[in-house]
Amino acid sequence: MAYKVRFVNPGKNYLMIKDEIDRSYFDVMTKGDLIDRGHLKSFEENLARFVGTKYAVGLNSGYDALHMSLRAAGIGQGDEVIVPAHTFVATCSAVVNVGATPVLVDVAKDFNIDVNKIEEAITSKTRAIIPVHLNGYMADMPRIMEIAEKFNLVVIEDACQSLGSSIDGKGAGSWGFTGCWSFYPFKILGGYGDGGAITTNDPDVALFARRMRYNGEDRETGEYYGHGFTCLLDNLQAAFLDVKLRHLPSWIVRRKQIAERYRKAFSDISDLMLPHYDNPRFDHVYQNYVVRSKQGDAFSDYLKKNGVEVLIQFRKPYYKHEALKLTDRGFPETEALSREVCSLPMNVEMDDEQIEYVIKTVRTFYGL
Ligand SMILES: *Cc1c(COP(=O)(O)O)cnc(C)c1O
Repeated sequence: MAYKVRFVNPGKNYLMIKDEIDRSYFDVMTKGDLIDRGHLKSFEENLARFVGTKYAVGLNSGYDALHMSLRAAGIGQGDEVIVPAHTFVATCSAVVNVGATPVLVDVAKDFNIDVNKIEEAITSKTRAIIPVHLNGYMADMPRIMEIAEKFNLVVIEDACQSLGSSIDGKGAGSWGFTGCWSFYPFKILGGYGDGGAITTNDPDVALFARRMRYNGEDRETGEYYGHGFTCLLDNLQAAFLDVKLRHLPSWIVRRKQIAERYRKAFSDISDLMLPHYDNPRFDHVYQNYVVRSKQGDAFSDYLKKNGVEVLIQFRKPYYKHEALKLTDRGFPETEALSREVCSLPMNVEMDDEQIEYVIKTVRTFYGL
């Protein structure tokens, strides 16, 4: 069906910045700069500055950023890694694929790992914790860093959904051993295909990732420093991302405006739990605007039927997928939110009229 309001509209987004994107395309193509060239270096420098770290290393996905970080920390067989029960499955798969065991912890009302439940999940085998900053809102990093210090754990931030967010002005992805980024098209900074990066302050970790993303090779000497991978961010994608990164601050302002419109319009609907947590130390960038409704599918189906494209992440928690062979220790908040979540359209392509249409449709569902 033709939606009146799309969840995201990449074609329209392109038209908003067409001149700059086209110019960078011609620049890359006429120079023939395809692999590991100047545009990648430029984007890495700009990303590191934006996040607030010394280094950024471009990779080909957020998954690879997580995988590379675990490798850099030397985590593998026999190690346990704490991950949230509510996240995109890649957070957990990276742990399994280095041979370690993921230990799941329930989330709190802000969709992020419940810091009060972390310590009870720690054993003598625990080596690392991967807090996920979901939907554009950071996990409680001051608390998590404290716990990590107490138990001597590596902290790998899954910041794939939270570029630009911060706590007390300190950016997501600048707290831990590494910050992991995804530039999948529908993230807050999305390319035109897969992409990712790690950010870090540790020169050895940056060097490790630079070599391992290119089959372990030191590009200057030709020496192999280990059995590596092929997971380099394309120079062309980096050129596009560099353009989009310049727009990100103003795009974040727009997202906050839309969130504020939703907040005002829905605050009298008691069934709707809204993603506003009133903690002035935490800066929410609204990668996703996820509401919870006890009406579940009745709510989301109504919106879709009336032309508002919404996304459900996720009705079935990842640990309930049998083939993944994960241990379900009972995660009541994750179970409850999985029945209730619905992501409303939140993107810089939508105009004021479309925002009003979403608001009107939601209110009509509640008979208002
Ligand atoms: C998107 C995402 C990933 C994976 O990123 P890809 O680039 O798709 O591999 C990992 N974790 C979270 C929380 C994500 O949202």
